[in-house]
Amino acid sequence: MNSVGWQAGEQMECAAREITGGRYVRLLSFVVQAILLLAVEPLLAQVRLSDDRPSLDVAALEAAGLKVYRSRHLVLVSDAPTEQCQELPALVDRFYPALQQTLGPLSPAADGAEFQVTGYLMDARERFQQAGVLPDGEFVIRHGRHLGYQFWMNNQPSDYYRRHLLLHEVVHCYLMCEHGMRDIPPLWYTEGVAEMLATHRLQPLQFGILPDQLNGFEGWGRIAELRRRPVEAGGGVAEGVLLDDVLNPASRIFLSDLRYAQGWGLVWLLRNHPELQRPFAGLFRVRTRAQFDAATAGISREQLQRLGVVWQLMLDSWEEGFDPERSFPPLAPEWRLWSEDSARPQQVQVRSEQGWQPSGYWFDVETRIRLSAGGRSVLQPAGENGARAWESEPAGITIDYAQGRPLGELQAVLVQRKPSVLPERISVGAGSELRVSAGSELWLRINDFEGQRRGNSGAYQVRLQSVSDR
Ligand SMILES: [Zn+2]
Repeated sequence: MNSVGWQAGEQMECAAREITGGRYVRLLSFVVQAILLLAVEPLLAQVRLSDDRPSLDVAALEAAGLKVYRSRHLVLVSDAPTEQCQELPALVDRFYPALQQTLGPLSPAADGAEFQVTGYLMDARERFQQAGVLPDGEFVIRHGRHLGYQFWMNNQPSDYYRRHLLLHEVVHCYLMCEHGMRDIPPLWYTEGVAEMLATHRLQPLQFGILPDQLNGFEGWGRIAELRRRPVEAGGGVAEGVLLDDVLNPASRIFLSDLRYAQGWGLVWLLRNHPELQRPFAGLFRVRTRAQFDAATAGISREQLQRLGVVWQLMLDSWEEGFDPERSFPPLAPEWRLWSEDSARPQQVQVRSEQGWQPSGYWFDVETRIRLSAGGRSVLQPAGENGARAWESEPAGITIDYAQGRPLGELQAVLVQRKPSVLPERISVGAGSELRVSAGSELWLRINDFEGQRRGNSGAYQVRLQSVSDR
């Protein structure tokens, strides 16, 4: 993996050592850094930036066809129909505790005022232009845009996505009101946090969720975007989908739906994967790039490589209703080198109630292996109480399909530790021969929806055997 943004601090420190050399200067530099951390940082964040919102001339706004809706944390100015606007201020008030809880409380305002933002929800941009409430110049707004304690957003056809985008912009205002737009963390993180927290359901009201279905989340589409695997003209998978591309994108422009989906996916993964929650726990309190670098300084290259493997598997696993208890690929399972055990066939077990599982073997040289599978698994259709459970063998059953393949089918994926392209899922069935490239891990699963493994039982026995090139 190339240098990742969060190792910049380490590189700076090395450079300082080369230039100065002397122990005394290093000590001095350490003392200065400590003083900066202990004294300046708290001073900077002791109070929030002052409220930069111009006062609103309500009569003039109303004359321009704009209505004003207010709550404790939101002033909403809009030309959209009242029924699309009136519940939004109260929603933001109920969102505020989730912001405090996830991102940490804000520093107080110098004048003790509550945190409040003004949002402009626009059907016809000209009305806002005429009313003088748009920023100067060519202010490009693709979906939404924030500046200080204000944000502007285009109205959305779907009720869900209108609320989502509004909450997304509120997150940005919350994160930026202490330090402003200077020295901000990487965009995948700031956009990903905004996306993660804004993903919500109303009944019961919850923020930061994973949608369990498509209905009610119209316009969101982040999982579909992640699974889409953009294909290049030549037929290969387009660049920009591996973890390294997400962390160190070739372009700083953050516009495509894919980039937002990746930001959401990575932040959601770091927040929910049981083995990632602890190392990344400090991430959700950061406001500046320096704080981001400090919060991630302890992440090792090995941990990042493992995250890169899990990321590849997750791109094939995300589904509405994804089951975090059963379907997360483990971060750091034990691996044995195939060449050390390949003199004899080896047996591994694949369980039906879990998603992608490590075979336990990785390959340091290109190898041909044969997989032969037996056994039975019982797949429980979800949400159909009393429905008959289906029994399957490794070839799968053609009563139902998940991701275009028979339920119950044995599948493999060869994940490269230093990937250059995304791996393809392979249908193994009762038996298949695979050509494994050097540096790959073999992962296996029994095909099912990743939100429907609860209640499954049984496993397949898979025999692995080297095939000699003759
Ligand atoms: Zn954003």
